Amino acid sequence: ASTLPGLDASKLIITRADPTVRPVPDEATACSGTETICTDHMITCSWSISTGWSAPELKPYGPLTLMPTASVLHYATECFEGLKAYRGYDGRLRLFRPDLNAKRMLMSTLRISLPGFDPAELEKLILALVAVDGPKWLPRSRPGSFLYLRPAVIGTQPQLGVQAPKEALLFVTASFMARLDAPSGGMRLHTNPDDMIRAWVGGFGYAKVGANYGPSLLATNAARERGFGQILWLYGPEGYCTEAGASNFFVVWRTKGPEGRLQLVTAPLDDKLILDGVTRRSVVELAREKLAGELEVVERKYTIDEVIEANKEGRLVEAFAAGTAYFICPVSQIRHRDYDVHIPMVKGESGQYTSKIKGWISDIMYGNVQHPWGVVV
Ligand code: PMP
Repeated sequence: ASTLPGLDASKLIITRADPTVRPVPDEATACSGTETICTDHMITCSWSISTGWSAPELKPYGPLTLMPTASVLHYATECFEGLKAYRGYDGRLRLFRPDLNAKRMLMSTLRISLPGFDPAELEKLILALVAVDGPKWLPRSRPGSFLYLRPAVIGTQPQLGVQAPKEALLFVTASFMARLDAPSGGMRLHTNPDDMIRAWVGGFGYAKVGANYGPSLLATNAARERGFGQILWLYGPEGYCTEAGASNFFVVWRTKGPEGRLQLVTAPLDDKLILDGVTRRSVVELAREKLAGELEVVERKYTIDEVIEANKEGRLVEAFAAGTAYFICPVSQIRHRDYDVHIPMVKGESGQYTSKIKGWISDIMYGNVQHPWGVVV
């Protein structure tokens, strides 16, 4: 075992920014420009194979310096996380299950040969950033607002040899992000245009590495040109439903046959094709707890043909995407080849289960109910 220093949040060095340099924009202008607006500070922490993790720093937000030969710029040695800080209706600042993001970032980091760390220390660093910038950027006068937190790790070693980086940088920023969870008329999905796929068995679809996202943009743009918002990523000749854009995907349907049992169905984690979403996990756990007896929660492989068949037979009840960015977002349409699945929208939702689940989770995020998943900053 290495005796080099590990990631240690207790060593955090704080350098305060001049608070007048980055004013807080109003909500309308915050997300309308072409540059993401970040808060006053960021966290950085460097690592090298010979000295381990340095003391982390909380310092004024600004550019990073990298050599053009840095590993990340050539070999995609990068992974990231996405979570939000919420200003509650009870006045407090919260994160939602940040331990899961920290653990997932460790998993992604190791998948691309970047250095390991104690995820509890990353969680403390994320909390430290929110504790410093939260009061100014999420004022008490704006309950229901949130900031998007973006932790990342990159390989910085300036050497072009294809190898595991011997130097790395971990950083965390906090920024504004638009509300995406209630597009008017619901989210419209298009299955993989031109048979492009996002992930494959034996690949790295389960890791939150940048290499999963850049190459998917071509397919997303093709879907947008056809007037659709996101892709419903299908896998294999069977057309297994996996994810919707950068969200997990759920359907509510009735099973075939006279008993017609109600099920909430989503793709399984075990073939490592999809991201183990924090929202997905929360939906599954809450639905199992609160809808027991009413609806069965099923994690299994299911195909687009099953969804279409359910739709044709009037058994498809609801569909939604679930993730940090789009939260619980009702899906109103799925186009697969020449067939359109239409899911009726009621009061901006695809149905009562979507709306119930969304309510339960958002009550935890915004402190309407006290729950261990809502971690107070
Ligand atoms: N799938 C993919 C591919 C994603 O990028 C995300 C966003 N992190 C999700 C699903 C949803 O995960 P989470 O609920 O943790 O945001």
